Amino acid sequence: MSENTKNKRRETRERIRETIFQLAKDSLFGGTDDGICMTCGNVQSGVEPDARGYTCESCGESAVQGAEWAILSL
Ligand SMILES: [Zn+2]
Repeated sequence: MSENTKNKRRETRERIRETIFQLAKDSLFGGTDDGICMTCGNVQSGVEPDARGYTCESCGESAVQGAEWAILSL
């Protein structure tokens, strides 16, 4: 695996982490129905906090989780 690919993967992971923290805050202070794709980081709405395995509208993976599950997987 090239350095470039490794860096890209790390960047994606870090971006997903930051997005999850944001989702966690939204979820605590007002409730949100946003979930996040653990593969590509796409945020989509209509995802219950305890949902798992929803299909991602962006990459097509069944990797979308609600805010609560996303936090647990950090
Ligand atoms: Zn995705």
